[in-house]
Amino acid sequence: MSVPFTLGALPTLSRSTVDRQEQLRTNPARLVSRWADARVVLLDDTGRTPVAEGSSVLAFRKAIDFGASPPADAVFLGEWQGVDYWSLPGGPSGSADTVKMAGSWGFVEEVPRADGEIWVELRGYGDLLDDTSAGLFTTAQALRNWRRQAKFCTRCGHPTELIQFGWASKCTNDGREEYPRTDPAVICLVHSREGTNGSHVLLARQPIWPAGRYSVLAGFVEAGESLEACVVREIREEVGASVSDVRYLGSQPWPFPRSIMLGFTARADRSLPLVPADGEIEEALWVSRAEVRAAFENSSHAEGARPTPIANGAAEIILPGNSSIARVMLKAWADAEE
Ligand SMILES: [Zn+2]
Repeated sequence: MSVPFTLGALPTLSRSTVDRQEQLRTNPARLVSRWADARVVLLDDTGRTPVAEGSSVLAFRKAIDFGASPPADAVFLGEWQGVDYWSLPGGPSGSADTVKMAGSWGFVEEVPRADGEIWVELRGYGDLLDDTSAGLFTTAQALRNWRRQAKFCTRCGHPTELIQFGWASKCTNDGREEYPRTDPAVICLVHSREGTNGSHVLLARQPIWPAGRYSVLAGFVEAGESLEACVVREIREEVGASVSDVRYLGSQPWPFPRSIMLGFTARADRSLPLVPADGEIEEALWVSRAEVRAAFENSSHAEGARPTPIANGAAEIILPGNSSIARVMLKAWADAEE
């Protein structure tokens, strides 16, 4: 009998190497003394950051070029190999042209280019970065997105100011403090009941996705709800299937704008009809392991995403984006034996 499948690889955005050094967020003297040798991750208005073309490492800036001490909007990301890393807002200097790249959802997109650097977004480029750069970019993006939604006190409505070098906000009226919020969402690979890992996986697509894009099911955890109960509810709501044997696989931060994806697997009976939720799920279907393996084989050769015929040729499949935990989950399941 096969063993239950596990993720195997860390999801792309969970690969952080940086020591967050959270005790330093309240130790300004220490951080200021290390500022001169620190490096900075720039984020532009849309959350893009620069990399040299073809590089797997972020194009860090020297902190000292931004002043003798950290500016008020500087966010401390942590320390790696004796160097402190920060994030600051900033865009391309001078005139930028654009270059075409494969986007995160199968579209080609125009990316700003200036001074031999391209300005990339995390969802589309994260999997091309090394572990340290991917972790720094993910944390910087998460803090930026939280800050953009935390400019006013949720108790009295007055403006807040950033404290603890980006890790908290404080109301300028009543002093209420808020910390970066993360919304939990479950994502579940549902497989059929044969053997240990099933013969088929349940895939679905949303109407707004590009043609051919399919993924596993996901949804936000509701107030007062356990993760396991959320898995059962979401799958019943979205495709009308009853699942059992809910099992945790792993997680990855998904700061778009502020989620963490909690990956699960569960079983369902594929002989029962699927009932896609109106307006939310355009199509749901069971796909065999051989078909999922073929989709991975095809995508590894393709430039960007290329559709793979599935089932009887009536449909095509484009796998979830390279930075998504859905892709890691599907790969792990496809590589496992039934
Ligand atoms: Zn307040």
